[in-house]
Amino acid sequence: MSTPCFVANWKMNKTLVEAHDYLTCFAQGLKREGSWEMILAPSYVALAAVARQIQSLSLPIALAAQNLHHKTEGAYTGEVSAAMLCDVGCRYVIIGHSERRVYFGESDALIAEKVLLARRLGLLPILCVGESREERENQMTSAVIRRQLQTGLGLNHQTFSSDQVSFSDCLIAYEPVWAIGSGKTPSPSEVEEVHYDMIRCMQAAGLPASKMPRLLYGGSVDEKNIALFMKEPHVDGVLAGGASLSAERFMTIIELGKKAKNG
Ligand code: PEP
Repeated sequence: MSTPCFVANWKMNKTLVEAHDYLTCFAQGLKREGSWEMILAPSYVALAAVARQIQSLSLPIALAAQNLHHKTEGAYTGEVSAAMLCDVGCRYVIIGHSERRVYFGESDALIAEKVLLARRLGLLPILCVGESREERENQMTSAVIRRQLQTGLGLNHQTFSSDQVSFSDCLIAYEPVWAIGSGKTPSPSEVEEVHYDMIRCMQAAGLPASKMPRLLYGGSVDEKNIALFMKEPHVDGVLAGGASLSAERFMTIIELGKKAKNG
């Protein structure tokens, strides 16, 4: 069984003082026992301060960025490179979040470039995939997820016989666009079905089980539904936005999620 993983995506929220207060509260209430992983994605400008506080409080939290640029360096005003993220202590980077796809026009091809670059420079991608409401209503969920997964991971361009190519450190977050921030979710069995479909898709591309990424669910995860999602066999963890903004709520989610997974 994989280590349950809880990703907090703060999006464009929290000043430095608010981030500091959050981690102070987290350190006071945290139950460290058991095997679990937390990944925190603050804004770019909070990364350095959050990294320092994680270290000074010895918190078991890995740092993630919410995005990166697809070029290594150069004249790209306002952008942040993979090397800068490594520099500041990021281990993970969220790539292809639906808010990037929808509001910033990020294509599957661009997302694939970002995944490739992140992996080349030592950052672990958290690749987000998910269908829109319209795609779901038109029974296109499987086709959309498979396309995003195949392109994002470059499944059609790689052979997995060499030891170098593995996605076992990476995470895929299945996040239906219509579920993000809406209070609506698919049923746990629908999530399980999509996760199992992703596994079949990766198997068909020749990726052995030992090289597969862990699979997260994201979209209106909260204290009431976390256990139901985590009980599904192919749900290794969750990615939360709104419910991750309160340290108390996120700690409750971690506790309930751990219990549901480990019994
Ligand atoms: C997200 O940010 O990807 C997300 C799932 O947000 P929320 O939990 O608020 O739906």
